[in-house]
Amino acid sequence: MLHPFGIQGPQGQLYESHPPLCPAGTWLSPVEWLGFLTMKFDQISEPLDLRLADGLTRLAAVARQLDWQAATSAGLSPTQADILCFVANRPEGSRLTAAAAHAGVRKATASDAVAALESKDLLHKYGDASDARAVTLKASVAGQEIAQSWPRSFAPVVAGLSKAEQEVLLGLVIKMIRQLQQRQLIAPQRTCVACRHFRENVAPGTKSPHFCALVSAPMGDRHLRVDCAEYESAA
Ligand code: SF4
Repeated sequence: MLHPFGIQGPQGQLYESHPPLCPAGTWLSPVEWLGFLTMKFDQISEPLDLRLADGLTRLAAVARQLDWQAATSAGLSPTQADILCFVANRPEGSRLTAAAAHAGVRKATASDAVAALESKDLLHKYGDASDARAVTLKASVAGQEIAQSWPRSFAPVVAGLSKAEQEVLLGLVIKMIRQLQQRQLIAPQRTCVACRHFRENVAPGTKSPHFCALVSAPMGDRHLRVDCAEYESAA
């Protein structure tokens, strides 16, 4: 019987090796064969972190494409859409620098995007009482409406996972965001793990090991927030 990498023996217990994984004519027991294959794949595979990075790049490309489509149909550039959603999620207003850092663009690029959003009456600038030179950005009612109905570009990516898998992935995503923040490779995010109200793992071994002091409630990993409006920096 043909096997993807060799030939199954008459009793089904032996496999003849197949190039290029093993010299032709070599006979191995199933256990040896599996060990051999594992060893071979350790040798012939790209490092795990590189394959994982490749996979994430593919997923990001899908999400980016969906973002482009949504932005185009709303008459916005992806940067304008990103900044509008960021500002609209902050009713108290946002500084240009923070919006630029969130979008991952230079301040001048963010400034152009803000000017375009202003011209479309989706966002306005206000003077800042605490700093005469600074301005605060706030979304207009029309801007709020667009931002609230903005599609989550990664939604189709995670839709194929079970709830349990999504919970595991959420924990990993928050861990990655936390490490990126510690290395200053990402703008500060309003996540639980960087919030002054967060009490991490205060009830170890339970389903809700964490605690949010703001609402005085226990939290499980599935409850952790990536962008919480009530967040206050622990720094
Ligand atoms: S206030 Fe929000 S970000 Fe802070 S711990 Fe509570 S849920 Fe998390």
